[in-house]
Amino acid sequence: MKDDNCIFCKLAAGDIPTNTVYEDDTFRVIMDANPATKGHSLIIPKDHFANLYEMDEEVAAKAMKLAKKMAVHMKEKLNCDGFNLLQNNEETAGQTVFHFHMHLIPRYKEDKNDD
Ligand code: 5GP
Ligand code: ZN
Repeated sequence: MKDDNCIFCKLAAGDIPTNTVYEDDTFRVIMDANPATKGHSLIIPKDHFANLYEMDEEVAAKAMKLAKKMAVHMKEKLNCDGFNLLQNNEETAGQTVFHFHMHLIPRYKEDKNDD
C-alpha cells in the first residue's frame, strides 16, 4: 500500500531517483540526504507504514534481518569502529518523515562524543 503524499513511498518505489545501496521486493536502502556520518543510510519498506506501531510484523522481522546483513556489509566496506541502528516513532521521539524507516549509522573513532 502506498500513500500518494509520502516522499518515502516515492523514493522506495524508485519514482524519485535516489542513491540506492540495496533493493529487493520489500525494501530499498538509500543514502540519507543529510548524513550524520559517512555511510549513513536508511532501510525503507516499499509499502507505507507510518511508524513501528503500524508495521506489518512480517515486514518488521524482515527489516531487522536486513539491518543485520547491512551492518555486517557496512562494517566490512567502510571499516567503521561502531554502528548505531536507530528508528524514531512520532514527532516527540524525533520522527520527521512519517513512513517507517531504520537508520543505519556507521560510527568512527574520530566522531566519538564523550558527553
Ligand atoms: P527521521 O527523523 O524521520 O527518523 O529521519 C528522517 C531522515 O530522512 C533524516 O535523516 C533525513 O535526513 C532523511 N531524509 C528526509 N528526506 C529525504 C530525502 O528526500 N531523501 C533522502 N535520501 N533522505 C531524506
Ligand atoms: Zn510512505
